[in-house]
Amino acid sequence: MTDYRRLRVALLGAGAVGSQVADLLRKHGDELADRAGAALDIVGIAVRNLDAPREVDLPQELYTTDAEQLIVGADIVIELMGGIEPARAYILQALNSGADVVTANKALLATHGPEIFDAADQVGASVYYEAAAAGAIPIIRPLRDSLAGDRVQRIMGIVNGTTNYILDRMDREGSEFGDVLADAQALGYAEADPTADVEGYDAAQKAAILASLAFHTAVPLEAVHREGITAIDKQVMDAARHAGYVVKLLAVCERIVGDDDTGDAISVRVYPALVPREHPLASVHGANNAVFVQAEAAGNLMFYGAGAGGVQTASAVLGDVVSAARRHIAGGVGVGESTRANLPVLPIGRVTTRYQITLEVSDEPGVLATVAGILSDGRVSIATVEQTVVTEKNGDSGVARIVIGTHRALEQDLSETVDRLRASGVVGRVVSVLRVEGD
Ligand code: NAP
Repeated sequence: MTDYRRLRVALLGAGAVGSQVADLLRKHGDELADRAGAALDIVGIAVRNLDAPREVDLPQELYTTDAEQLIVGADIVIELMGGIEPARAYILQALNSGADVVTANKALLATHGPEIFDAADQVGASVYYEAAAAGAIPIIRPLRDSLAGDRVQRIMGIVNGTTNYILDRMDREGSEFGDVLADAQALGYAEADPTADVEGYDAAQKAAILASLAFHTAVPLEAVHREGITAIDKQVMDAARHAGYVVKLLAVCERIVGDDDTGDAISVRVYPALVPREHPLASVHGANNAVFVQAEAAGNLMFYGAGAGGVQTASAVLGDVVSAARRHIAGGVGVGESTRANLPVLPIGRVTTRYQITLEVSDEPGVLATVAGILSDGRVSIATVEQTVVTEKNGDSGVARIVIGTHRALEQDLSETVDRLRASGVVGRVVSVLRVEGD
């Protein structure tokens, strides 16, 4: 075996991902050393509870509860604890002591990214985080490096496996949200408290990370518009299927090209949207993730695979460890984040998309004309209309359902128009208002 320089690797966390990273690093140590040009020695693993049962069998003497002490003297620190504190403090300690950092912590990067990247810049170290968005799927490095010479126009990502699993089963089986969620919890696809997934918080963190990279702009989490999937029911799913769409929770990061006066801006948003069945994202099933990137020169690119899972995510982490080791051996200043474009992030009201509006109205002459008039007054132009009778006329109380597809409209105009429809007296119920993406 080549006599490589030895690098000291400190691992913080031995849970679903950390234990797999430690296992693979030990099993494939020689191979990884050849690729990295350095031998990677795990000098310790910080955990909370020394007696907790572990998924993989590692020497007990590696475990410690003293993360701070472990970081001292490390060349590479792998943070796989999750959460904000103490992960943030340990990462800053590691950078300030000259270590490169590898992390999968999307929650931390989406909220404290600039602080961490600045700290790395100050000391010339690097932070690697391939696993922080879309798990095993290589998407950070393609955005940061491979597409650095191009101009990203738009990203549409299915970046949360739990919600994709739920929506996919609702679509395929015609089941209700609550039933599939309960099943997903029993099978371990959803947490006991599913809020972070079903309300879109997890996807919003990843959207902030992806948009920051794609548009060379620090995008704060608060600037990401977020809606979850809890209002999606069987009726919405059936209507989507009928119209040739599938409902997906999307993270959309978009460059909005302005004129000479306004300049370009960006929009970053997470919401359930209608995706045409023939779009590549429509065929992402189960808990898989996919990121669809449109770039000016490269055209359309699709990245697909496992968005989570201990061993799958460990693959992305270990790729980062090899990169960190190579950099450490080569020396010099780390590659900082590119945020100089500093584009403004538009509020959701200033974004334009197409919409599908489903209404229940009384089945009477003139109602459709009234609805069309309200839309037109609100600068929402109709592309398609379909009317079906929900209940037959009994005396004068028939109910019809109208599904309206719009041309591109400003979100603010659309939402004011929907309010006017609600107040109009002819609309019994606004069944759903969904954006259409990817057509
Ligand atoms: P996990 O299973 O909950 O494991 C967390 C580990 O960190 C445990 O070993 C825990 O110790 C240790 N830990 C937590 N707080 C600590 C503290 N204050 N001091 C020392 N050790 C501490 O988490 P995970 O699923 O592996 O996720 C790790 C990171 O990867 C998170 O940032 C997550 O968002 C990210 N990620 C996970 C996945 C996935 O599929 N799981 C996918 C992509 C990204 P004990 O074992 O003693 O409790």
